[in-house]
Amino acid sequence: MTAFEYAPAPESRSVVEIKSSYGLFIGGEFVEPTDGAMFKSINPATEEVLAEVAEAGPADVDRAVRAARTAYEKVWGPMPGRERAKYLFRIARIIQERSRELAVLESLDNGKPIRESRDVDLPLVAAHFFYYAGWADKLAYAGFGPPGRPGAEPRPLGVAGQVIPWNFPLLMLAWKIAPALATGNTVVLKPAETTPLSALVFAEICQQADLPPGVVNIVTGAGATGRALVEHGDVDKVAFTGSTEVGRQIARSVAGTRKKLTLELGGKAANIVFDDAPIDQAVEGIVNGIFFNQGHVCCAGSRLLVQESVYEPVLEALKRRMTRLRVGDPLDKNTDIGAINSASQLERIRTLSAIGAQEGAEPWSPPCQLPDRGFWFAPTIFTGVSQAHRIAREEIFGPVLSVLTFRTPAEAVEKANNTPYGLSAGIWTDKGSRILWMADRLRAGVVWANTFNKFDPTSPFGGYKESGYGREGGRHGLEAYLDV
Ligand code: NAD
Repeated sequence: MTAFEYAPAPESRSVVEIKSSYGLFIGGEFVEPTDGAMFKSINPATEEVLAEVAEAGPADVDRAVRAARTAYEKVWGPMPGRERAKYLFRIARIIQERSRELAVLESLDNGKPIRESRDVDLPLVAAHFFYYAGWADKLAYAGFGPPGRPGAEPRPLGVAGQVIPWNFPLLMLAWKIAPALATGNTVVLKPAETTPLSALVFAEICQQADLPPGVVNIVTGAGATGRALVEHGDVDKVAFTGSTEVGRQIARSVAGTRKKLTLELGGKAANIVFDDAPIDQAVEGIVNGIFFNQGHVCCAGSRLLVQESVYEPVLEALKRRMTRLRVGDPLDKNTDIGAINSASQLERIRTLSAIGAQEGAEPWSPPCQLPDRGFWFAPTIFTGVSQAHRIAREEIFGPVLSVLTFRTPAEAVEKANNTPYGLSAGIWTDKGSRILWMADRLRAGVVWANTFNKFDPTSPFGGYKESGYGREGGRHGLEAYLDV
């Protein structure tokens, strides 16, 4: 029963001015690509073209790496940490000042609800810059200095080539750029081809902050541009977030070179609900775990493991809660689930869901009317899922949950770990001792207890197995950018 209808509450689009076309950000200024190639970035909720963006070829990538090298040698590398910190604090403050504009831009280009870009992405982006700004003058005390020389500064690596995905465009940029700059490296970053716009406005913020030219360079383009960057001979460090498949290719191309590599890849997290868990809270956590950001989350709780004795009440409460989810206009402040980021991602979600049904699992979605234009997928749960089903093994990266059951804690651990991935997991129980027992046995980089999808810049994040290696965030996140 619906008590009342929500009136539309759209955030104003006019707070952001999108240019009709963007060049590459190299050496502190926007420049045309060498061969003039451009591509379009569209709004996935409407399929409207938002802007044309330059596609960097190998010559442009080379130009960006050279700008980063010069800035590293002449300015940023030699600059004392306390001076670097000032720039990072300044960037963090400008991000806060411009957060409404950036949130709207992110929702337009990515399709995520404004409630999330405004209340989750942007505050975390600013927090990352503030946090790593604080480390810039304290690196000697971070525990990574030269052995036998307490208090000596650890050395940066040089030029970092960074490639990021489309699910949290500005947040992934912050995770990459903030620690790299704090530790004295310069960067060339390639945003994803479907979400380049917030990185380009970040380039404007670097200008506004008077960041020395060449310290941050942004090259836009697709996979070929990313490849030219990670394979460039003068890059000292490669940081990649994206699919396991591309991560493997990059690991192969970097093998045998002096480049240092960190990989943040996919996941297939188990969200485990015990019979003593407070059901309403657990249901909020399940919904947040899989429907936050349309399920485009590497650490999404995409496999729900429910203890058999509470299977029915949990499923009933989950379905009831799902009928209340509002799918639609990402700029509406009441929207819970926005648009799927691209036609190709929608295709992937549809294909895997169809395979789930063919293999015998049973799909369920609440009644919901999807907009006519744009890329949309109704929130969906599959019951009757077995470990062998592809929807229980492969990352769908969409609003699709596979529900499995277990009887004992040991069986829950066994099922949770039965995956090639190992990024995150969730545990819902009233017993502290059980949380610790489980957390000890789960092969996952992050384990949340009685909550899910909580992020903090002070806390390291990263995976085991095919979810990658290296940690981002916290003191651990410094290590990836230091010569230790
Ligand atoms: P993707 O691997 O296709 O693309 C990621 C980025 O790599 C994009 O910028 C793309 O242009 C670039 N790229 C593509 N081919 C390349 C190549 N050969 N060399 C260099 N760069 C290349 O992944 P996607 O579909 O954009 O993102 C979804 C995936 O990212 C999911 O699997 C998800 O789990 C993962 N992800 C992981 C994390 C994490 O922190 N572990 C965070 C977000 C997303």
